[in-house]
Amino acid sequence: MKELEERIKAVGTVLPGNVLKVDGFLNHQVDPDLMQKIGEAFAARFKAAGVTKIWTVESSGIAPAVMTGLAMHCPVIFARKHKSLTLTDGLYTADVYSYTKQVTNQISIAQKYVAKDERVLIIDDFLANGQAVTGLMEIANQAKVEVVGAGIVIEKAFQPGRQELEAKGIPVMSLARIQSLAGGQVEFAPADEGE
Ligand code: 5GP
Repeated sequence: MKELEERIKAVGTVLPGNVLKVDGFLNHQVDPDLMQKIGEAFAARFKAAGVTKIWTVESSGIAPAVMTGLAMHCPVIFARKHKSLTLTDGLYTADVYSYTKQVTNQISIAQKYVAKDERVLIIDDFLANGQAVTGLMEIANQAKVEVVGAGIVIEKAFQPGRQELEAKGIPVMSLARIQSLAGGQVEFAPADEGE
């Protein structure tokens, strides 16, 4: 998505450890107009997949996920990063190692919001090593619902997340693909097909 690439170039900054900071439109301040276009792009890509629900992880996945849910007219669940390791009644849970925070969070989704025969589209802000999406897929496994794809706003194509997910049979669509952040410079990889 050209507009997204241009915004990353204009306001993105590169932090040590190959972390791209995009607090200006995605991770702190949110640009609703850009989020709406992002939601529409995911909806167009996955319109034939019979999606019944969008899943994401709090907090930075929520804005693009809600806009995708709006475009696809389906509800959105954000998995919570909850603190208690024992209070798990009525919850599906999975452990997720956070790339940026370098801690493991337990994420959870309430069982009462997961119906049988659900077809889930996972949306997230970034794809790095694929841990967040894999955690949601673990929950989908426990709940016996199908994951039909993953829509990613910014993919770091030099990290193995996409290969991990595609090896599990999950189609991945990202709207901006970053080839390298070396030397503090953002270099883009060719866009996804259908983008
Ligand atoms: P993964 O789970 O694929 O290893 O990493 C994706 C998650 O880590 C995303 O949900 C995002 O919150 C965070 N993340 C990974 N890389 C970056 C990055 O370069 N910048 C930002 N802002 N978040 C990132």
